[in-house]
Amino acid sequence: MAYARPPKRMHSITVHVAPPAKGVALPPVSGPRDRPLVVIDAGHGGHDPGAASRTRDAREKDVTLALALALRDRLLRGGRVRVALTRSDDRFLLLQERYDIARRLGADLFLSLHADAADNEAAQGATIYTLSETASDREAARLAARENRADVINGVDLGQQNSAVNSILIDLSQREAMAQSADFARLLYREAAPYVPFRGNYHRFASLVVLKAPDIPSVLFEAGYITSAQDAARLTSPAGRARTAEGLARAVEIYFARRLSAP
Ligand SMILES: [Zn+2]
Repeated sequence: MAYARPPKRMHSITVHVAPPAKGVALPPVSGPRDRPLVVIDAGHGGHDPGAASRTRDAREKDVTLALALALRDRLLRGGRVRVALTRSDDRFLLLQERYDIARRLGADLFLSLHADAADNEAAQGATIYTLSETASDREAARLAARENRADVINGVDLGQQNSAVNSILIDLSQREAMAQSADFARLLYREAAPYVPFRGNYHRFASLVVLKAPDIPSVLFEAGYITSAQDAARLTSPAGRARTAEGLARAVEIYFARRLSAP
């Protein structure tokens, strides 16, 4: 008996994504006038949850936002810097939009907050990343590939509309900002280490799109592994977040105090 097969359904998922706006709306800047401006970037958001833990109810986009808010509050209490957040709620931003916000606001420092994930539950501790054309090691290269994929949805790279911006080649004009970024990375480790467990090899390099503002010292801070019981407890508890924010805030305050006192 002939059997007519039902027409084959095309299974596809359509996600409607607004085209990147010509410059997203600028966030508010808080803090005393005439103070240096730090822009804090909570990684991921909206349809992009970032890294997730299979066993724990922790998503990177929530961890980064909570840490960004805690750091902002701590810095504003200190009264020494102005602060703006690239996002203060659960929304998606392209990597380029994140550092564009910092550039348009005239930021003096850009800090992108993330959390790591690994199959090995024993992996734990924070890592600081700064920009480099070549990754410092294979793990750094893998991390950059993963973080840079934040712009990709349904195989379409929303961030590739301006290929010049996303070229991994680094302009010479960027060298000064890169040197300052490395300075800040060392300071961040020194100041935050009493508050945050770091990995042995705490400063790594990779071609991370979000760090490509050519004129702003920029650091990506992987605050810990959400796949580690110890790190997840620290990153999802108010007390643990406050400690992490304290370490970050001290580094930011000392960084600017040094620069203001430099001849
Ligand atoms: Zn991330």
